[in-house]
Amino acid sequence: MAAFAVLKALLASCCPGNNPDGMQHRPDGFVGKRPNPLLPVATNAHPPARPPLTFVLTDGDRRARHRYIHISPPLAPAAATNLPQETQLRLLLPPSLLPVGEIRVGPAPPVINPSRPSRPQFRLQKSAAGGRGGSGRGALLLPGAMGIGAVSDELLGTFVPIAVYWLYSGLYVALDGVGRLDGYRLHTREEAATKNVVSKATVVRGVLVQQAFQVAVSLTLFAVIGDESGTGQKQPPALVIVLQFITAMVVMDTWQYFMHRYMHINKFLYKHIHSKHHTLVVPYSFGALYNHPLEGLILDTIGGALSFLVSGMTPRTSIFFFSFATIKTVDDHCGLWLPGNILQALFSNNSAYHDIHHQLYGNKYNFSQPFFVMWDKILGTYMPYSIEQRKGGGVESRPAKLD
Ligand SMILES: [Zn+2]
Ligand SMILES: [Zn+2]
Repeated sequence: MAAFAVLKALLASCCPGNNPDGMQHRPDGFVGKRPNPLLPVATNAHPPARPPLTFVLTDGDRRARHRYIHISPPLAPAAATNLPQETQLRLLLPPSLLPVGEIRVGPAPPVINPSRPSRPQFRLQKSAAGGRGGSGRGALLLPGAMGIGAVSDELLGTFVPIAVYWLYSGLYVALDGVGRLDGYRLHTREEAATKNVVSKATVVRGVLVQQAFQVAVSLTLFAVIGDESGTGQKQPPALVIVLQFITAMVVMDTWQYFMHRYMHINKFLYKHIHSKHHTLVVPYSFGALYNHPLEGLILDTIGGALSFLVSGMTPRTSIFFFSFATIKTVDDHCGLWLPGNILQALFSNNSAYHDIHHQLYGNKYNFSQPFFVMWDKILGTYMPYSIEQRKGGGVESRPAKLD
């Protein structure tokens, strides 16, 4: 460590941006004598004024998911102070930034033009010196939960699935407007108009309320279970991500099956909570999440949190997992049986399967959602069905037995 510190000090003395006359020319216009990093700080009878600090979040090394904090002038070598540089940093950092988890002294992010340091993307805290950049020397690496660009993965995991919900269901609305998909409808338009007693405006409002509720709960959950050390997680190998994805699907299905089934068995819960979802006898895309907020909390939010925690996926993977689960749920309610739909071809749990559950005769069957049908098959609540052509056009999901 001592050898590293001396080497670092030597490197610092020849770093661009500082003249060999010992004067420091900072980008913010400050010109002054640069302290000799080899001077022992601890034995200085008149300690210099607190050095200017500049805290900067840069995009210098996103992949390493670190925050850079520049300190100028650089730290004294460990050998001169008998204090490891990491300890010096802890002493220099304001209490508001502690604890910061692991602190490491690392190389500064590359400065392309020393006279014009790269503009910091985010200001973490105003610098004590009021400066914008830093000399780039003696930069610190503070591991941090950086996200994609300026937004954390936790925020993306909360909001991207909501955007996906409206975009994907909007696609079905657009296709419905074209009118060319009538031959693939599982119910006629007349049936939808007579059996669905709530207006589409009410459904949109209901979904928005539920999503607002879920955002509040998700952000609270992330704040509670979040990575307090601020240490960003690296993405594991692809195979591990696939296994985590499958695990999360099984966990979500298991949770939703038993909770969903219980909401049908318990008369109070069905009447006051789950029946809201069943007001859509003829499901359509953006009605997928037309639920009582408590149902959203119990089935979706808690189910999502369990899938996330049990699978061990990173917040970044969860963006894709929750978006996929959202797409699947919307697709299961799209009200169409589309030959070219890859989700309906790959999954036995699809729009025709879930359509059975929305009918009066199927109310006690096909509880599984949103991915597999295994729990219905294991526990005898699976209702076999076939896709038949309906007289007068379109198709229908016809149950094979009614007992
Ligand atoms: Zn149900
Ligand atoms: Zn449904």
